[in-house]
Amino acid sequence: MDIKIVKAAPEKMKSKPKDESKLGFGKIFTDHIFTMKFKEGEGWHDAMVEPYRPLQLDPTAMCLHYAQEIFEGLKAYRGKNGEIYLFRPTENIKRMNISAERMCMPALDENVFLDALKKLVLLEKDWVPHGEGTSLYIRPTMIATEPALGVHPADEYLFFIVVGPVGAYYPQGFAPTKIYVSEEYVRAAAGGTGSTKAAGNYAASLYASRIATNMGYTQVLWLDACEKKYVEEVGTSNIFFLIGDELITPELTGTILPGITRKSVIHLARHLGMKVTERHISIDEVTQGAQNGTLKEVFASGTAAIISPVGQVYYRGKEYMINGGKTGAVSEKLYNEILQIQYGLKEDEFGWRVKIHG
Ligand SMILES: *Cc1c(COP(=O)(O)O)cnc(C)c1O
Repeated sequence: MDIKIVKAAPEKMKSKPKDESKLGFGKIFTDHIFTMKFKEGEGWHDAMVEPYRPLQLDPTAMCLHYAQEIFEGLKAYRGKNGEIYLFRPTENIKRMNISAERMCMPALDENVFLDALKKLVLLEKDWVPHGEGTSLYIRPTMIATEPALGVHPADEYLFFIVVGPVGAYYPQGFAPTKIYVSEEYVRAAAGGTGSTKAAGNYAASLYASRIATNMGYTQVLWLDACEKKYVEEVGTSNIFFLIGDELITPELTGTILPGITRKSVIHLARHLGMKVTERHISIDEVTQGAQNGTLKEVFASGTAAIISPVGQVYYRGKEYMINGGKTGAVSEKLYNEILQIQYGLKEDEFGWRVKIHG
C-alpha cells in the first residue's frame, strides 16, 4: 500500500519549541499526522501523512462508548551526528497487533505500519530535539469509529500516529521514586486485558493513582487481583528487583504488559553476565528483603524513562527503604547501556536500532 503525503502549508506550520529544557511530556505535537481507515469488506485504505488536524467523529463513534481503542508508545532518538533512530519498532508493531486481536480490532500490515512510522518521522525530522535525553515521542492509536450504539465489534476503524518532542526524563540526574502498594484496587485480573495497551486499562487505574499521589507517592505498585500477594507492575512500567545477585521480574502471565524495555533489560542483563529470573515475587519477599538487606535495588522499566529507580515502598502503613533511597549501580548501568544504544552512542550488538535519517 502506498502512503500519500500531503504537506502542511508553510504558513500553517507551528513554531518549534526553542527551549528544549521545557518540553515536558505529551503537550506538544508536530505539523503532521498519519491516518489510515478500515471498513469491513474493504480492509485498510487511504493511508496518508497529512496536516495535523482534529478528528471528526460521530457522537456515537463506538470508541467513545465502549473503549474499543488501543495504542502504542515508542520514541525517535537523535544521534550525535544528527542522525535519527527508532528503537525496536517491530516489537511495538507486533504488540499493537496482539492488542488488536484481543480487542476484536483489525490487524495492521507490519510493513505499512513501519513505513508509516518512518515516513512521518522523516517528514518531521526537524522536530526531533537535540538535547541530551530528549526525543520525539510516537503515539500510534487505533479507534473504533463505526457510528452505532450496542456492544459489538465495530466495522469501521481509524488508525493514526501523532508525534511530538519530549524532554529528558531526568534533567537533574536520577531521582528515585516512592511507590505505593495498592491492596484495595487492582489493574488487571486473569482473563482480562492487562497484557494489552487497551485504553480502558488506563482509565481504570486513575483512582488508585490519585490515592497514591495524595499520599505523596509517585506511582502505584500493583499486586495480582486474586490474592493481592504477588507484585505485577508499577504505574505504566514493568518492575525489577535485585535480590542478592539475582535480577527478578514478574513473569508474563497475561495480567502484565510485556514491555519492550523489560525485554531489553532482561536480554542486556543476561548479556552482561547477570542471573535474571522471570517468576512470581510476593510483596512479602520484597518487604522482607528490604528489612534484612538482601533486596539491593528496585527499578521500573518503560519507554518513557528507560529505568526509573525506586527508593521507597509503602505497604500496609509502613515505608520500606531501598538502597538507602538512592539509585543503585545495576539500575544505573542498565540505564546507560540502553540509552547509549538508543542514541547511537555505542555499537548496536543486538540489532535494536532502525536508522531512518542521516
Ligand atoms: C507501556 C507499558 C509498559 C512499558 O512498556 P514499554 O514497551 O517498555 O514502554 C509497562 N506497563 C504498562 C501497563 C504499560 O502500559
